[in-house]
Amino acid sequence: MNHNESRALYDRALSVIPGGVNSSVRATRPYPFFIDHGDGAYVVDADGNRYLDYVMGYGPLLYGHDPPDPVQAAVQSYASEGPMYGAPTEVEVELAEFVARHVPSVEMTRFVNSGTEATVSAVRLARGYTGREKIVVMQGGYHGAQESTLVEGDPEGAMPSSPGIPSSFAEHTIPVPFNDAGAVEDVFEAHGDDIAAVLTEPILGNTGIVHPVAGYHERLRELTDAHGALLIFDEVITGFRVGGLQCAQGKLGVTPDVTTFGKIVGGGFPVGAIGGRAEIIEEFTPAGEVFQSGTFSGHPVTMAAGYEYLNYAAENDVYDHVNRLADRLRRGITDILADRAPSYTVVGTDSMFKTVFTRRGAPVDGDSGSDADSEDHSLDVCEAGCRQRESCAKYDHCPKTGADVADAEAERWERIFWQEMQEREIFLTANQFESQFVSYAHTDEDIEETLEAYKEVL
Ligand SMILES: *Cc1c(COP(=O)(O)O)cnc(C)c1O
Repeated sequence: MNHNESRALYDRALSVIPGGVNSSVRATRPYPFFIDHGDGAYVVDADGNRYLDYVMGYGPLLYGHDPPDPVQAAVQSYASEGPMYGAPTEVEVELAEFVARHVPSVEMTRFVNSGTEATVSAVRLARGYTGREKIVVMQGGYHGAQESTLVEGDPEGAMPSSPGIPSSFAEHTIPVPFNDAGAVEDVFEAHGDDIAAVLTEPILGNTGIVHPVAGYHERLRELTDAHGALLIFDEVITGFRVGGLQCAQGKLGVTPDVTTFGKIVGGGFPVGAIGGRAEIIEEFTPAGEVFQSGTFSGHPVTMAAGYEYLNYAAENDVYDHVNRLADRLRRGITDILADRAPSYTVVGTDSMFKTVFTRRGAPVDGDSGSDADSEDHSLDVCEAGCRQRESCAKYDHCPKTGADVADAEAERWERIFWQEMQEREIFLTANQFESQFVSYAHTDEDIEETLEAYKEVL
């Protein structure tokens, strides 16, 4: 496999773009391959190499690289007749109506231009609505490049996790370990009257993937209700993917006050959104007092792409297809791991999947009641991705927090596994933390080929 063109392009890029990329995760080693074009479930790089793509733009591309005809037609028509106006259009009303119809907690939506902008606005909204300043977030959670959530530390004290952020921002943020209800109870005990919101991904989608343990979100719901704080679900990555059109909140059966969206809801174009009960969302200007505005917000091309994307999913077997294939993939990888790397953990749900290279994911000898040297494939483990099931033989070892994922063999993923999968023309997310996605363009043959590659490389 030849990468001369990509190497030359990266060389040029390094002179004019910091680190040669416009988003940090793209700086794969030793240099990224530059994409020439997409083709269904595949991408083709500048040297003509063709890869089976599970990165899918890091989340937005539910259909792969050839969206359905109605999406293409709408995008072309809005792009050629505008592309934008600084005045409202019908299609943004249609998309907001669609979201309100399908997502349990949403009555009203404000559209913005990125997931980051959505979470920034949601935090401002929560503070404005409650008149309080503190935000509780999960260690290892990700809410984009925003000052209030780029923190590290614990409930005793948070520091900015990047230079350039005044520590006074972090003073108002309280990071807690995901899945630890006791930690949130303590935080509410200490600061209950000052907490504007608990902001969490329903499933940690940028670290792992980590599923909630039974009862965790229900407890967050009770605590926020009891203390007059808002529960904000950041569904930028899970929205219109996990649980289909009802999103992860519908699937998990927990109703947040405010939800942030992004990725899929823009049909492959830059997008973010803040949705929730009308009484809260109407605090945004001009209905209310919390300032929120944007030149490109509700961009007609994005709104049209998002609306046609979701409409197509409502009328076709899209979620059945992607969920079935990803389920097959997760089961297949689980079987391979039982043989080759029993300490590792398959994670993911719906069309999301990842293998966390956990160091202690295996039941220790005796846990299963079988001989240490017998190849026992009948252990009772979550077979299609970790569900935090207490009866699972791996329950005590599977990742439950961001820190558990951070403890995994990140270097092995990045420097060996990812590279060798790339050599087999399979494009995975380059670090241990980011999720991977099956698209509507993937086929059963693609899954088989992928499992063969996992078998060779693991
Ligand atoms: C991707 C993501 C964001 C940030 O969205 P951008 O569009 O990259 O700004 C925020 N929250 C979650 C959960 C995400 O997955």
